[in-house]
Order: sequence, then C-alpha cells, then structure tokens
Amino acid sequence: MELVGGCVCGGTRYVLKSRPLALIDCHCIDCRRSAGAPYITWGSVPRDDLVITKGEPRKIAYANRIRSFAACCGTHLFFEDTKDSEMIDVTIASLDDPAPFAPQKVIFLEDKLPWVALDESLPSFPKTPQT
Ligand SMILES: [Zn+2]
Ligand SMILES: [Zn+2]
Repeated sequence: MELVGGCVCGGTRYVLKSRPLALIDCHCIDCRRSAGAPYITWGSVPRDDLVITKGEPRKIAYANRIRSFAACCGTHLFFEDTKDSEMIDVTIASLDDPAPFAPQKVIFLEDKLPWVALDESLPSFPKTPQT
C-alpha cells in the first residue's frame, strides 16, 4: 500500500509508508492561521514512515512546534512537536486521496469559529484530550 501526497503546485511530494492514525480536526488559532483555513485535519505517522520524494519542505519554528510548508508554493504539509519527535502529523487534505481518512475527534473547540458547523457525533475537546 502506498499513500502519496504533496503541495498544490506539484513541486513537493511525499509518500507515507503507513496509514495515518489519530485523525483529528484541530481548530486552534495557530493551525487556522498557518493554513489560511478555518481548521486543519491532521493524521499521525511514525517519523520514519514519511518520505519526501520531491522538493524540500520549509520548516518554520513557531510556538515551540515545527510546521513544514512546501518551499515551492506554501502548502502546509507537516507538524512536529520537536525535530526528533517520534510521530509527525500530516495535513490529510494534502494527500492525493484524503477521502478514506475522516476525522475521529475534534480538538481546540474553544478556538472554533462560530460559523463552522461541527459533526456532533465526534468527541470534541476544549483543547486536547490530555488537558
Ligand atoms: Zn508546491
Ligand atoms: Zn492546531
């Protein structure tokens, strides 16, 4: 099984060697601003299962986290807690076929925009499940 994705212009491409897990919609302000969208759907893979096959993401350190964007066109691609964290998060919408990866949880509800309609069947958390 091979899952592939990349940026809007095609200059940056990646392969996932395992299915993304822990699928969440994050409504936090940082995700919103960095994507220029109301929220981001994330999935996690072990760091070793993410292979960049074309281009080079530009890493931006912000708020003690590292966000990666396609250097060619700015598409938001990845998120990591630290440069050596075990798992790395991938923007599900950057996959060529995001359809099978529906979110399972909603986090940072406290930052959600009032006009975003939630799927009430999903568990939701004011911040994260840990806080
Ligand atoms: Zn690009
Ligand atoms: Zn977020």
